[in-house]
Amino acid sequence: MPLYLFNCDTCGDYTRRKSIHDNLSNDTCPKCEKTSSRVYTTFMTNVMDKKLSKAIESGMEPKVMKKSELPKNNIKSKSKISRPWMN
Ligand SMILES: [Zn+2]
Repeated sequence: MPLYLFNCDTCGDYTRRKSIHDNLSNDTCPKCEKTSSRVYTTFMTNVMDKKLSKAIESGMEPKVMKKSELPKNNIKSKSKISRPWMN
């Protein structure tokens, strides 16, 4: 089972193994039994807005821009489309 990171307001961060069928957005702190919230460790999602993070977590990919939509001086290689969260 994957390991997820949660944050308790009182005790701080901790990790817990969960099935994808469990509630992954919230957990109960093993120390004080308060409700703790999921910490998203996927690259950059912690600085993205929450709605977008959720969309990525649920498997939705952000819109991929077409070549014609990119500024011309920005095109270097077709194969260099970066999706760091897919690693
Ligand atoms: Zn706690």
